[in-house]
Amino acid sequence: MIEFRWGTATDTGRVRQANQDQLLTAAPVFVVADGMGGHNGGEVASAIAVDEMAKAVDVASVDDLIDAVQRANREIVDRSKLDPELRGMGTTLVALVGMIVDGEPRLGVANVGDSRLYRDAADELAQITEDHTLVEALVRDGRLTAEEAVNHPQRNIVTRALGIDDKVLVDTWQLTPVEGDRYLLCSDGLFNELTPTEILEVLHRVDDPDAAAHELVEAACDAGGRDNVTVVIVDVVAVETGTDPLADDRVISVHKAVPDRVLQIDPPDRTGPSDPHPDEIVVDRAPAKPPFVTWRLGVFVAAVMVVLAVLLSVLVAYARSSYFVGIDGEDVVIFRGRPDGVLWFDPTVEEPVVLTVAELDPADLEEVKDGVEFDDLDDARGYADAITQRAVTDR
Ligand code: MN
Repeated sequence: MIEFRWGTATDTGRVRQANQDQLLTAAPVFVVADGMGGHNGGEVASAIAVDEMAKAVDVASVDDLIDAVQRANREIVDRSKLDPELRGMGTTLVALVGMIVDGEPRLGVANVGDSRLYRDAADELAQITEDHTLVEALVRDGRLTAEEAVNHPQRNIVTRALGIDDKVLVDTWQLTPVEGDRYLLCSDGLFNELTPTEILEVLHRVDDPDAAAHELVEAACDAGGRDNVTVVIVDVVAVETGTDPLADDRVISVHKAVPDRVLQIDPPDRTGPSDPHPDEIVVDRAPAKPPFVTWRLGVFVAAVMVVLAVLLSVLVAYARSSYFVGIDGEDVVIFRGRPDGVLWFDPTVEEPVVLTVAELDPADLEEVKDGVEFDDLDDARGYADAITQRAVTDR
């Protein structure tokens, strides 16, 4: 058994209208989910995620934990298919779960998206999870430095989220629980506002987890509060038995799912060949065709296309909205469009005026040569009637 104490705080922040973050403290299951998309879809997605994870109280392996996350994903996907208003909703999820694996107390960690799990490692804030974001991928590829990533304008594009595909890629960790260890689960609204040093200072100074959580959320709001902020602090109070060799980073094993294959991460630096807990064989849980384009990116592209479509229709409306009386060969006609056209929209003949160029009054000819513009067809007809009248009178 592992005994925990915990504290939580969440806030809408200073900019957003609604708090789409959700948290769960159903010991031994602790979750933060950051919902996104839809009208209030984000709230619905993160709420479904925590409701489903609340059922995961007796997970006995990281595989169980992954199954729980997959079930939550399935629920969100099904729900968004039922309700068009919710289409496109998704949520991140980071979970810390106490479990007994083969009689050993363990901590299971699951992560999808860009919420994070940290451990207070005394001299540093050790980030355990890895963000599934476009920016993080660029940093991994060496196309962006860590410093450039901090304020990158696209840093909120996630490459994985629950609710998007039938299967979701889940990263997991198995950790050794150690008495006195303090864990922090949080949404990006926290670490985008506060530096690791600032976060660590509060974790060290404020012993009560609830008071510390509230102080962190308040500090993030004071620092700008540009996003919803959610904090769950989990202290490991007591651990029954436990014979795991203690690695500095507590990590027993890591499974990172990547599209089409699963990367096995270097085992933590500990022990030699007699290591009783070698990294487990990694099972590929990636869907055959994993999502590559992120849904946030998709939303962005869709938005750009909508803007372009609107611009185009305005342009077409402008190009086609007026009429003018002009000359088509030997005849006077009413054109639709603009005399010089607009971009590639050339004027078209709307209707003939029973009048040839030769018959025109000379003063009218001067005008008609350049095209005489009108906002609507009736006015153009009125003008055509007038010049026809003058031509007939001239005869
Ligand atoms: Mn967020």
